[in-house]
Amino acid sequence: MALSGLEIYKQLPKKNCAECGPPTCLAFAMALAGGKASLDSCPYVSDEARANLESASAPPIAKITVGTGDLAVVLGDETELFRHDKKFYHETAMAFTVNDDLADDELTNRIKEINDLKFNRVGLDYNIQLIAVQNKSNDAAKFADAVKKVKEASALPMVLVTEDVKAAEAALEVVGGDNPLLCGANSSNYEAMANLAKAKDVALVVKADGLNDLAELVDKVVALGHKKIVVDPGARDVSRAIADFTQIRRLAIKKKFRSFGFPILTFTSATDALEESLEASVYVSKYASVVVMNTTDKAVVLPLLAWRQNLYTDPQVPIRVQEGLSPIGEVNEKSPVYVTTNFSLTYYTVQGEVEASKIPAYILAVDTDGLSVLTAYADGKFEADKIANVLKKHGGEEQVKSRTIVLPGMVAVLSGKLEEATGGWKVMVGPREASGITPFAKVNFA
Ligand code: SF4
Repeated sequence: MALSGLEIYKQLPKKNCAECGPPTCLAFAMALAGGKASLDSCPYVSDEARANLESASAPPIAKITVGTGDLAVVLGDETELFRHDKKFYHETAMAFTVNDDLADDELTNRIKEINDLKFNRVGLDYNIQLIAVQNKSNDAAKFADAVKKVKEASALPMVLVTEDVKAAEAALEVVGGDNPLLCGANSSNYEAMANLAKAKDVALVVKADGLNDLAELVDKVVALGHKKIVVDPGARDVSRAIADFTQIRRLAIKKKFRSFGFPILTFTSATDALEESLEASVYVSKYASVVVMNTTDKAVVLPLLAWRQNLYTDPQVPIRVQEGLSPIGEVNEKSPVYVTTNFSLTYYTVQGEVEASKIPAYILAVDTDGLSVLTAYADGKFEADKIANVLKKHGGEEQVKSRTIVLPGMVAVLSGKLEEATGGWKVMVGPREASGITPFAKVNFA
């Protein structure tokens, strides 16, 4: 259980020197209890007190890293129950299964399918994070061989899915230095698995059926000296999984219940690709740090990754593109400029529609701090003078021979002022929605 501010205070040096930031030891103790300070800020705390206070100063959900280098994945280290309270920090890692009982060519194709799960949407790269190699063969040598092949064919960090200690040992011999995630320990094998994970210094998934058994098993693994833990409460139907994951997160964040202060891993169970994607989206929304799934159907994986991306952005910071003037297609002397804001969703929607019209044009993205057209206009960030200045700054006078600019229909009111501000450019009022760009372009610029 978490310590209160007064309990923490009793263990502090009581010098009231303020070197930690707050003016007194008591104020520091209160900040520590509230998760707003780090024990490291006090240089005088004794080793004994440090050990006692560790649970109070540790993050509510442990930070676990899987993999190495640029593709390393950080799990957990979250502080919020709800995204709107602040933000979620480390997006759910999506893992895709490879079974070790596949024939060689099937294994090669499967790894390729997983490696190919890369997307670009609204200017952002959407990637998957992990390959989960499953020991379906129940053969340690076969498992290690599959792990070796995956290592040779993919740079993605691995989840080693086996409850067989010998198979885990054999696989870790192949990839131990790559910092994989070992999955898993259960009530029967936890001692051997914990010792193995500790010896190889890799994180271990601890699985039990139900929250009480899980808390007990986590405590046993911690008592063996291994704290790099990811938890799996075993639920494989969606409603129970949501209830369990929410309880784990709530107890970890609100009550600082240390047995649940670890990232959550789960597996999807649906067999239909679309249902599996929906199931995974629920787990992404409700606190899973790793979701292991089977389908590699891009048509269902992309929306899932888009959903994840939406959840893990900072709700107070809109996604934006760089301000500037960009040609779309082979621009010519008739090509107009469509003006829009640097809110990325708006910008890429306009870009998509201009491309779809097949009539070359420029797009001018005006920096509105990532606000959409109407919001920016209401906030005074999308005005005629500013648009004219941005056009000039990015070479509009030299590049755009047509001297024609198209305003979004929603801000038609700016047309007169913009004509004046641009020194006589032809200002046209475009459609209210980007979907109207193709018919508008065909009538005016074809
Ligand atoms: Fe107290 Fe340590 Fe802070 Fe000094 S640095 S005020 S001793 S908690």
